[in-house]
Amino acid sequence: MGLLSLGTPLPWKEVEKYANHVREHGITQFLHIWNNNKDKKDNVLLWGDEVEYMVVSYDDEKKSAFLSLRQAQILAALEKDEMKQRKIEDDANLALNQRIPTFHPEYGRYMLEATPGYPYTASFDDLLNVEKNMERRREIAIAHLLPNEFPVTLASYPRLGAPGQFTDPYYPATGPASRSFFLPDELINPHVRFPTLTANIRERRGSKVAINVPIFKDKNTPSPFIDPTIPYDRDIFSEDANAKNGAALPDHIYMDSMGFGMGCCCLQITFQATDIDEARQLYDQLAPLSPIFLALTAASPAWRGYLSDQDCRWNVIAGSVDDRTEEERGLKPLEHNRYVIPKSRYDSIDCYISRRPEFRDEYNDIELVKNEEIKTMLTDAGVDEALADHYAHLFIRDPIVVFSELVDQDDANSSDHFENIQSTNWQTMRFKPPPPGSGIGWRVEFRSMEIQITDFENAAFAIFIVLLTRVILSFGLNFYLPISKVDENMKVAHHRDAVLNEKFYFRKDVFAHKRNSPENVTGSETASEDATPDSEDSSSDENSSTRSFSGPAVRPPVEEEYDLMTMDEIINGKKLESPGGEDVGCDDFSFPGLVPLVQSYLDSMSIDVDTRCRLNAYTDLISKRASGELDTAASWIRKFIRGHKDYEFDSVVSSEVNYDLVRTIEKLTKGEEWDGAGASMLGGLSATR
Ligand code: ADP
Ligand code: MG
Ligand code: MG
Ligand code: MG
Ligand code: MG
Ligand code: MG
Repeated sequence: MGLLSLGTPLPWKEVEKYANHVREHGITQFLHIWNNNKDKKDNVLLWGDEVEYMVVSYDDEKKSAFLSLRQAQILAALEKDEMKQRKIEDDANLALNQRIPTFHPEYGRYMLEATPGYPYTASFDDLLNVEKNMERRREIAIAHLLPNEFPVTLASYPRLGAPGQFTDPYYPATGPASRSFFLPDELINPHVRFPTLTANIRERRGSKVAINVPIFKDKNTPSPFIDPTIPYDRDIFSEDANAKNGAALPDHIYMDSMGFGMGCCCLQITFQATDIDEARQLYDQLAPLSPIFLALTAASPAWRGYLSDQDCRWNVIAGSVDDRTEEERGLKPLEHNRYVIPKSRYDSIDCYISRRPEFRDEYNDIELVKNEEIKTMLTDAGVDEALADHYAHLFIRDPIVVFSELVDQDDANSSDHFENIQSTNWQTMRFKPPPPGSGIGWRVEFRSMEIQITDFENAAFAIFIVLLTRVILSFGLNFYLPISKVDENMKVAHHRDAVLNEKFYFRKDVFAHKRNSPENVTGSETASEDATPDSEDSSSDENSSTRSFSGPAVRPPVEEEYDLMTMDEIINGKKLESPGGEDVGCDDFSFPGLVPLVQSYLDSMSIDVDTRCRLNAYTDLISKRASGELDTAASWIRKFIRGHKDYEFDSVVSSEVNYDLVRTIEKLTKGEEWDGAGASMLGGLSATR
């Protein structure tokens, strides 16, 4: 089980007093970690996924599916079993797919998180274990549920916060922590950390969080849409006036509580790099892919009982933990706060951290708000500018939860204060330093993906990302884009059917040094790993790109490095017609596509036929999602709702429609109906299982 610090949480007014203490000791703790690990080399690839579930409880008579609030009992039962099995396992040295997965608590009291239990290695055998391991996790979860419960992997629950009952058991929405109009505090994990997070975010901000997702205007949706289900005139808490004073926007689905975001499910992947530089390289190279994979995994079209005009969860979570004050949001002149902060603490990354030669200063093109004292602490201790900037930026935030028993720590051996700030910066990528005294290496986490309905799909996306990291490293790929363009892609990724209708900024030439390397002038396709100088301290990008090469290297303006591409082009490749009309093939003017790149990497490995077939099934899914041949989960859910006999084309997702949706999702999860009810999303894929 994931361990959460126990103790007495301080109220916001007290936490505030300790903010500098936590930041300073947090950075001191980081410096111990950094000093002990910065020269660590030769860690092997280890990696693992995190899958989040919602436990639903069916009431077949009422044709309702509720969110079951039995997390504590379920986790206790799982832990008891795990204890028993661990002992046996220690002796038996079981194969990885037979090892005991680990279950963790999550924000929602209806949620579970499960990890493989042991990290996977780089072996192809382990890749084949991923889906089995995910299936096993779900089976184990099911074995600890009631007969009318089921763990679905749904990114957003369509009826969360909708009128009437949506939790089992029912609670009215009158909780002091969230003060929500819609969500009872009882759906928050009761461990003190979570209600305290909720209350302290609200108090720090000075109002309830306010999330407004555009409503999907269907044939019978009133226009303007003024939500009749908002209790504008409630008068229990001071924040109750927020909604009528402008927090709730017309034509939007208004949400007012952390649970709407942190109650969503995602798919995260963590990798161990060989050393700190490789971790920094992977962090940077995966960052521009985070909006691409957000759009491809889109699975959240419905909120608070309505169909929305967006497909992804990300901006809902960003809004749900946005603890910035009005001054910090730039709505009032700075008086009590230090900074105007452009983004929520849950958002896309703000700066690249690698300084390999393919990096150019122009890529870090958005304002980076920094805590200058923290930066000085880091640079005085010998941390390079780029990494110091990264932490000086993360450490502009206050801690949200501080336990009184944990204020004083042994900074040489603890990372509690560091993790307090680090782990409440919920960004698209996370750079994870080794835990003190652990033997674990530098890791990177890819955090943007939405959870998929079936284990097959979740395995496919997890495996595809891990293969991409291998391709990036062995071909020396370069996906750098200015961060402002990555941010624009994040916005676009949310749009309804972005996969089909939108274009994304993407780098035209992903072969890092191909244009600059003398070898490549003569047409060699050699991966550029060897040709890559390790210049940590390169101050000017012009110099760093030419230093180790004899040939002249004139870099084009940054704006010429990227173009707008469709998802199909990014994933499956783009062939340009030459001016004469003939197909010019995969040369300078065409983008190879991420799936063909992964395929050519696989071609270069010796893999047995069975393994390759299985991996092809995963890449096929991704390829077909990108081409539009198969629907995203969001698109499929939207079609299911709109095609339901009880839907009235007024954007409302009724309890009955929700019930049938969840029942169908359960079937898909069990491998049924792929060529039936699930055909537009999974059709034709069952043959490959
Ligand atoms: P968090 O919630 O902090 O992101 P979790 O512990 O829930 O982290 O999940 C981390 C994932 O990383 C799991 O899938 C786990 O198997 C995997 N993992 C564990 N150890 C390593 C390691 N040394 N390197 C890479 N991944 C690891
Ligand atoms: Mg986790
Ligand atoms: Mg976590
Ligand atoms: Mg989680
Ligand atoms: Mg979560
Ligand atoms: Mg994680």
